[in-house]
Amino acid sequence: MNEDDRIEVSRRHLLAAGAGVSAALWAGQAIGQEAEGQPLMGNPDLPEPMEERMRWAVVGLGSFAVGQVMPGFVDASLSRMTAFVSGNRAKAEMLGQRYGVDRFYSYDDYDRIAQDDEIDCVYVALPVGLHAEYTIRALEAGKHVLCEKPMASTSAECEAMIAAARRNDRRLGVAYRIHFEPTNRTAFEMIAGDALSPLRHIRCDHGFDATPESWPPHRWRLEKALAGGGSMYDIGIYGLNTAQMMLPDDRPVSVAGVYAYPKDDPRFVEVEGGVEWRMTMASGAVVSGSSSYCYQPYVSRQAYLGAKGAITMDPATTYYENELVLRAGNGRRAIESGPPARQFADQVDDFTRAVREGRAHRTPGEMGLRDIRLIEAIYRSADNGGAPMPV
Ligand code: NDP
Repeated sequence: MNEDDRIEVSRRHLLAAGAGVSAALWAGQAIGQEAEGQPLMGNPDLPEPMEERMRWAVVGLGSFAVGQVMPGFVDASLSRMTAFVSGNRAKAEMLGQRYGVDRFYSYDDYDRIAQDDEIDCVYVALPVGLHAEYTIRALEAGKHVLCEKPMASTSAECEAMIAAARRNDRRLGVAYRIHFEPTNRTAFEMIAGDALSPLRHIRCDHGFDATPESWPPHRWRLEKALAGGGSMYDIGIYGLNTAQMMLPDDRPVSVAGVYAYPKDDPRFVEVEGGVEWRMTMASGAVVSGSSSYCYQPYVSRQAYLGAKGAITMDPATTYYENELVLRAGNGRRAIESGPPARQFADQVDDFTRAVREGRAHRTPGEMGLRDIRLIEAIYRSADNGGAPMPV
């Protein structure tokens, strides 16, 4: 019997006895409790007082920062926002009023954050082509950095970011939120607990319709200088990264890919619009996936197929509603986890803990570099007719 059940049973006892019970008994004498209150029960994970929390600057106040990152800080227990960096001061001040943030920087005076003792960490939420520059400038300013995915445009940029973190003895993480998302954590624990083993195939399909006309507009995602790459960088990376999260003791040995998008589509002059990819693991497990800027509606689904059972997740990696179904034998069970939106708060709080404890983050810069190297190899394969590339 859990706590909720116990409360329900004692409530039913009281209701059953209630008809003949006097007002005095209801006041507490009947159940022997003091009216003036009780000590703090259990072991609640209380939020820290604001003044003790890790202080964060958010860089780039775009749709993801405003829609997900900022509300995530409101739900956080150990982290709070103290500064905004933006090219649009009026927007920054309006958001500052809403979130109680009163320190503002532009991209030009960004390096002045070095003198700002009210900033410990920086959350980089800029277009990908700007990740390396703004991450390295923050690290040189003595701040710890959590950078959005994908880590940067090239593996050389990722290496420079990692070198800057080491040189300045700062933590560097990549914001792979799925590592903190409750439904995916449940899948991870089930796979680690042998629910499927051996796991033979993983299938991941991720995509959406990237148009400059949509709101928010997908303009920079279609420009190589700002996006680094195409759909595989932006959305296919969810499959690539999550599959490896589910197989922590395994490692990729080769990848392959073929492009899959209409070649006459004017959106895809600078970046690819879709890839069908495959990653072979040392264990023999095979991960395959599709990544597309031409899917309608939004697609985010994954399947983990093993000798003992199968997990399907559809949707798998959204912000607010992920679903997990376990099938084993003839049984089918939908498994509930915590609210997906917790992922944003838990991600920043885990980074805060990593900084405080001087330990590596759960999704460190090295993981971001690993994934960019894999995507570069998938593109090399696709450029060479799909030939497997050892990694
Ligand atoms: P947006 O285009 O909505 O926002 C990007 C922001 O960056 C702009 O609003 C602007 O902020 C700033 N910016 C600075 N220079 C430029 C420039 N040259 N062109 C465009 N914007 C510029 O992008 P998203 O919010 O969708 O993406 C931002 C980052 O977050 C990317 O790295 C993306 O991959 C990542 N992301 C992650 C998701 C996840 O689930 N983890 C989901 C979506 C995005 P300002 O006006 O304040 O200067």
